[in-house]
Amino acid sequence: MPVTDPVKVRIVFERRLNKTICRKCGAINPPNAKKCRRCRSKDLRPKKKGARKV
Ligand SMILES: [Zn+2]
Repeated sequence: MPVTDPVKVRIVFERRLNKTICRKCGAINPPNAKKCRRCRSKDLRPKKKGARKV
């Protein structure tokens, strides 16, 4: 059963993408994080957009 409701899709989408990932250790951090909570690296990247599997 695919999710077709655009509103729901958007919510799920934003929740899943609203994260940053540490390039050093791969930890998932909050979107507003400036440092990795695990290794304290500043090398964070936003989670990639595109792959859309809900
Ligand atoms: Zn890290």
